[in-house]
Amino acid sequence: GTNGVVKPVTPVLEVEPEDSVEQFAEYRRLKETMQQMAITGVPNPYFTIHDSVVRDTTMVDGKELISFASYNYLGLSGHPDVTKAAADAVAKYGTSVSASRLVSGEKPIHGELERKIAKWIGVDSSILMVGGHATNETTIGHLVGAGDLILHDALSHNSIVQGALLSGARRRPFPHNDYEALDRMLSEIRSQYRRVLIVVEGVYSMDGDFADVPEFARVKKKHRAMLMVDEAHSFGTMGKTGRGIAEHFGMDARDVDIWMGTLSKSAASCGGYIAGSDALVELMRYTAPGFVFSVGMPPAQVAAALAAINTLEAEPQRVDRLRQLSELFLTLCREAGLDTGDSEGTPVIPVITGNSMVALRLSNRLKSDGINVQPILYPAVDETAARLRFFLTSEHSEEQIRFTVERTAAHLAELGFESAPAVG
Ligand code: PMP
Repeated sequence: GTNGVVKPVTPVLEVEPEDSVEQFAEYRRLKETMQQMAITGVPNPYFTIHDSVVRDTTMVDGKELISFASYNYLGLSGHPDVTKAAADAVAKYGTSVSASRLVSGEKPIHGELERKIAKWIGVDSSILMVGGHATNETTIGHLVGAGDLILHDALSHNSIVQGALLSGARRRPFPHNDYEALDRMLSEIRSQYRRVLIVVEGVYSMDGDFADVPEFARVKKKHRAMLMVDEAHSFGTMGKTGRGIAEHFGMDARDVDIWMGTLSKSAASCGGYIAGSDALVELMRYTAPGFVFSVGMPPAQVAAALAAINTLEAEPQRVDRLRQLSELFLTLCREAGLDTGDSEGTPVIPVITGNSMVALRLSNRLKSDGINVQPILYPAVDETAARLRFFLTSEHSEEQIRFTVERTAAHLAELGFESAPAVG
């Protein structure tokens, strides 16, 4: 068009390049948060070193503390049978399977554990993955994609949200535990999508409440969607014999399309599983990236989980005991006027302080009393939802629980008073 002269295009640099992590805004924000914490004079509550198995107690700085900060719900991590099974598996198979299971990494105990989990839950098949977080990411990321829709609980675990982001499907949270709101959303938009995946959790690990899974199953059927239930915190803790949330509700496990669980909590190991129909598991075994392109679960982890589930099966009284102790803890908290939010019938009991500083100082004071409990602070939760979160185990004693609730209430009364705004 012009007289044959091509004007050189000068690239316009619209942003400052960042070529080191120190420059990242995310990193500077992190440093600011750490500085603010240091100013308060309260020691950093993260990465505390625990130099023992953590059951009802833990060893920190050479001191034994009553502990409410680990997921060893049934005391099976450190159980002699579980430890021995892991050691035997290492002696026989080594510390790694040294390949993806698809190509030379398969050991007999992989299939044995997968059959055990499927039978335990009451479905056809299951498949193991090396990480619980990775199990959600790779499964959700793989089973749905562009043109599909993921509807997940507003309080979903990070691994669910990450899986949804990876999938490329449209993602919409629905209000916590609200299957009626979900039903309405589906009535409006179901027709625009090929597959719809609904994701809920058996037990919510921040609040200690749980999903009404039969109602969610009803809604998913009505709208021809698929339902996935994350049992990280309900496997081993819910239902009369610890089989999980389906047993709790007395429902048919096959009414849920995808059961997901972690082996890092009640099962005293590490890794995750997906359980459901033969077709689901077969598809995953040959095509799920986080399975196909990842090493098989290490022998010690497989054997530990297998032994833990066998122990749980032989000793269902562990689940009863956990339930009784959790109920005692909750009742005592309520009697003491503590705010335990929506926790009910689970071993996860928050004590909401509504203020991060109070939560941090409360956990620190409890530590001086010999009690280990993790504070959950802003921005992990809203400032008004800052809390201590207590995880019960079947190994706690009533005495430990009474002492803990009594100390928590006493300190909180003082701290609440100290942090109250001065009145004119
Ligand atoms: N799902 C939920 C609900 C969880 O709470 C967690 C971790 N606590 C995970 C998945 C990830 O499991 P893991 O820690 O075994 O990787």
